[in-house]
Amino acid sequence: MSGVDLVLRGTRLRWGGTWVEAGVAVDDGRIVRIAKEPNLPPADETVNAPGQLLLPGAVDTHTHFSYGRPDRTDLGTGSEACASGGVTFFVEQAASTPEHCPPTLDVPALQEKVALGERTSRVDFGVHGGGCAGNLDQVPGLLATGVAGIKVYLGWNPVGRYQASDDATVLALARTLAGTGAPLEVHAENPSLVAAATEALKRAGRTTPEVYTDSRPTLAEQEAVSRVARLGEAAGAAVHIVHLSSGWTLPVVREARARGADLSVETCPHYLYFDTGTYRERGPYAKVNPPLRSRPEVEALWAGLLDGTVDFLASDHAAPSAEKAPGSQDIFSIPPGFPGSETMYPVLMQEAFRGRLPWERLLWLLSEGPARRFGYYPRKGTLLPGSDADFVLVDPRATTVVRNERLHHHSEFTLFEGWSLTGVPVRTFSRGETVAEGVFPGSVTGRPGRGRYVRAREVTGPASPGGSGGGAGTARPPPP
Ligand SMILES: [Zn+2]
Repeated sequence: MSGVDLVLRGTRLRWGGTWVEAGVAVDDGRIVRIAKEPNLPPADETVNAPGQLLLPGAVDTHTHFSYGRPDRTDLGTGSEACASGGVTFFVEQAASTPEHCPPTLDVPALQEKVALGERTSRVDFGVHGGGCAGNLDQVPGLLATGVAGIKVYLGWNPVGRYQASDDATVLALARTLAGTGAPLEVHAENPSLVAAATEALKRAGRTTPEVYTDSRPTLAEQEAVSRVARLGEAAGAAVHIVHLSSGWTLPVVREARARGADLSVETCPHYLYFDTGTYRERGPYAKVNPPLRSRPEVEALWAGLLDGTVDFLASDHAAPSAEKAPGSQDIFSIPPGFPGSETMYPVLMQEAFRGRLPWERLLWLLSEGPARRFGYYPRKGTLLPGSDADFVLVDPRATTVVRNERLHHHSEFTLFEGWSLTGVPVRTFSRGETVAEGVFPGSVTGRPGRGRYVRAREVTGPASPGGSGGGAGTARPPPP
């Protein structure tokens, strides 16, 4: 008797706020059934995974795989890091170095980035559009081709014609996005406050890594979030703050939401696990924009993660490491950024194993939350019949020590070097196909070019079960 393509048996999955023993059946790349043992259909391939946790793959909506030296990283190498770390869907940012492909400021550039991904990626992906004064007329075309959102920079021209936006441009972009569901994404730091603080430090001859946080004060983030929230509100547009760095910015977020602003925020693992002390310990390797913050700000960020003020997590993955020579001590001349896609899910799931984060919150922050905000849910970001069969097997007893030389991210360092993890991914599936296998970081088995571009807000799959911030389908009926 011919059955479905694949069945996983003996697994435990989250259902209604608890663990249930159930398996999944996959056909043609999608989940067709979630059921207890006797109710699973026959299959061509069966994976027996007794005692292992079956979790939705992570969705990393902030990656810079096509930024930096093309001889070292690209969408293909980035997707290796994803597969290894249980990230089954990534959304590549708009900025890119021209040697990879142009920044996604118009449809031809978007098509080039998509083609690059479809040649090289091992997992499915989406792409962000870029916005600036020079491409306002291109935004409707970008939205029609399925970009996740439109990213703007308030300062610092990232690449060539991808210019920083002033307030009038931000407002004009927000008006273009109003009613489309696509968020205006903002790197929220007031550039003039950053420039003034940086110049003052340089004039005083203070250029060591330890001063870096002072060069980009929290006030610059608070002011920028407050301003773009107002501009978005005035336009009736959704605004998304990327890589929010300080828990002391969260009161500004709550205030804007209380007025009715459609404002979401992401933060990154590095703002949760590292602080200003890391500049002392890691020197130039700790440079990132916005910078690492003080311990009280980190604690406030954790509180916001738990109470729902922070919407979700993303890695802001970049791998500029070769230029971060340890000998170089002028922090202002060193490129910013950390690799992070590969370590994000294994590190954060430690919090759920230890009881610091409820499992539903973890799965919301890393999977359902970002998939919903950018219009990929329920095809991505959940385990439901009809969803893509993107999931991760986690062995709660498997242990590993993070060693950069064993990671697949093609970066020369990880801030998580030497961390011991218990309970890590042992196998990653993308549309039902195994793309990585072995205790994290396992072997990447997914073929380059098997990944497909997915358009935002053009989702086919199961009807939304009407979940909310609780996540992970707390109101679902139990599996049969
Ligand atoms: Zn970024």
